[in-house]
This record gives sequence, structure tokens and C-alpha cells, in this order.
Amino acid sequence: MKIMVQTYIHIPFCAAKCNYCAFNSKVSTADERENYIDAIVTEIKKSLTTDNLSLITIYFGGGTPTILTLNQIEKIFNAIIKKFHVETNSEITIEANPGTVDENYLNGLKKIGFNRLSLGMQSFNDELLKILGRIHNSTTAIETVKTARKIFDNISVDLMYGLPHQTLDEVKFDVKRAADLNVNHISIYGLEVEPNTKFFQLNEVGKLNLPDEDICGDMYDYITENLPKLGYNRYEVSNFAKIGYESRHNTGYWTGAKYFGFGAGAHSYNGKIRTSNIADIAEYIKKIRAGYDVSQVEEIVTTNAAMEEFCFLGLRMTAGIDAKIFHSRFGKNIFDIYGKIIEKNLRLGLLEVDGDKIFLTKHGMKIGNVVFADFLLSDV
Ligand code: SF4
Repeated sequence: MKIMVQTYIHIPFCAAKCNYCAFNSKVSTADERENYIDAIVTEIKKSLTTDNLSLITIYFGGGTPTILTLNQIEKIFNAIIKKFHVETNSEITIEANPGTVDENYLNGLKKIGFNRLSLGMQSFNDELLKILGRIHNSTTAIETVKTARKIFDNISVDLMYGLPHQTLDEVKFDVKRAADLNVNHISIYGLEVEPNTKFFQLNEVGKLNLPDEDICGDMYDYITENLPKLGYNRYEVSNFAKIGYESRHNTGYWTGAKYFGFGAGAHSYNGKIRTSNIADIAEYIKKIRAGYDVSQVEEIVTTNAAMEEFCFLGLRMTAGIDAKIFHSRFGKNIFDIYGKIIEKNLRLGLLEVDGDKIFLTKHGMKIGNVVFADFLLSDV
């Protein structure tokens, strides 16, 4: 029997470090990138796979994968398709940043095999882009989408809200601009100020000028109410798509898919054990060169942990969780395990139940973390 799996390839390099970014990414030299490509190809070649595994999604993320040359990307891609069987209708995504790609490069990505482009836009406001420390401006961003449109049928953009000095009108403008560009998918992220970032330092001394909580709430309400009106259905807490363009890769994460992660800091999950690779890039390269395993066990996923995850990841999706699937996966009735929690959240107006489906209400989506915490089994 064929087992469907996903793969994620982490490219931890960027043209510059953004002021809010705590991801595993850095500015690199050409040598460092070359060494990293060799290491990741070795990791893929040595990975333990079986003949019955078949990839349904491939995702090159970062960092900025498009900082690499087409040849370097192709080298990794070829290692993947040599190692795994890839389903013919797979979703094959690459993250790209405006300012790192032109028409020639985008055509090259298509030729290699990518069929989905995820663009790190964040905003169409030049002042905000500067504050964020992005390398592009709004003109480059718009040109990149227009060029990509000629080449890719499936384009996603990321937008952010709750940014320093940002107003509700600026959020409205960004939402309209993205929709006017007719992209297929929009991911929306509220800014979180993470330690070890420039924003964190500025915030510590009171110089970040973030919009207050009420304004951020208004921004969130505007986005979640208006994107669906513009043809982008909300299918997950932060993700909106035209029908048929929901991200299959991320949906896999939210529904318990098994995945292989390659590269520094990448995670893998085989349905029972979650592992993570060494995050330090130099260390990752050194260990691979010396023939060592770079992954370590992060978590042995117990049945309780798997049930918790099934619930809180499932609840991120607007379709919610399905009691029948819960039963077929765990051999237990979800209402026997979580009956009291479900009842409590129904009473609070945070959850709804419709037949076998259990899902968050509009208000529940807004304070999802409060509901997710209830599904930790130690609290049952
Ligand atoms: S481009 Fe993305 S990964 Fe790179 S520094 Fe900026 S936010 Fe971080």
C-alpha cells in the first residue's frame, strides 16, 4: 500500500535579516551556500525511506530559497525526485521574496518543477516595508506578482498586520491591493515581537510604536470579514484561499500528515516520532560531512499527545474536527474524552457542533489559543 508523505526543505539564507525575524535564517557567503547545498543533498541521499512512500507535497521554505541559484535549487530538487516517488499531481511550492526573482528566474523555477509560488510580501506600504527591514518596496512587490502571474497558476502572498505605526486604513489598502492582484491564496500574520530581534530591543525601550490591542483587534476583524467578501475563503485561522487553492502542504500539517524535513533545523514526523535536525548551520554542515546523523528525537508522540494534536490542529481549520475520523484513528469516542471541554466551550460560544463536526465559532477563532489549551488532556 502506498503511504502519502510530504517533504520540507529548509534554506536558511536571506539577503538581509528582517527586523522582526526570529526564524532560523541568516545572511551568508557564496561558499557557505554551496557547502550547505552539498550537505542537504547528502542528507536526502542518506535518508531512510521505503519504496511505498509517495510524496504529495514538496515545499522549499526558509529563509529565502530564491537566494540560491537555479542550479543549486535544481540540485536539491533532483536529489528529492531520485529518492522519492512523487505523485503526478503533487503540490510543489517554493517561497520567494520580491527583489530576489525576475522573469527568467521564475521561468527556471517552473521548468525545474515548481507549480506554486509563495511570496513574502508583508505589506504594499513602502514605509512599513522599510520599518520591517524588507529588501523590497511596493513597486517591486507588485511587479513580481504581475510577472509571476504570467508563469504560475498558483500564487500565495503573506501579509502582516499589527505593525509599528500601522493604521487600519493601511491594512485595508494592503488587503485590497493583494485581492486586486488576483493572487490565489493569502496568509495573514499578526506581528509577534520575538526575542533576539531588533523589534524586541526597540520594544524593550518603548520605541516600537505598536498599534494598541483594540486597533489590532479591528485590523483582525476587518481582514477576516473582508477577505471572504473578496473571494478568499477562510479555511484556517490565518489562511484564505480561492476555492481549490488551499495549501495542501499546510493542510497536511494540520491534519496529521507524515513528513520528511531536510536541512538545518528541519523537523520530521513518521506518525509516531517527531525529530528535529541540528539548527546551527555550520554544525549541520560539519556533522553531515563527518557522516553523522543530524537529527535528534524531539518527541515520542503518545496516543494522548496525538489526540490533543488532532483536536487543536483540526480546530485551526474552519472545517473543524470530525468525530468519525477521531474514532477511526484512535478507537475512541471524542465525546467520551472531551465531552466536558466541548460542552464548556459550547456554553461560552467558542465552539459549535454540527453532527460529527466540531468547529470554532467566529469568536472562538479570534481567541483560538484559549480553546486549544482546553484540549490538553491533563486538563480533562
Ligand atoms: S526574508 Fe523571511 S526568513 Fe528572511 S529574514 Fe526576512 S522574515 Fe526572516
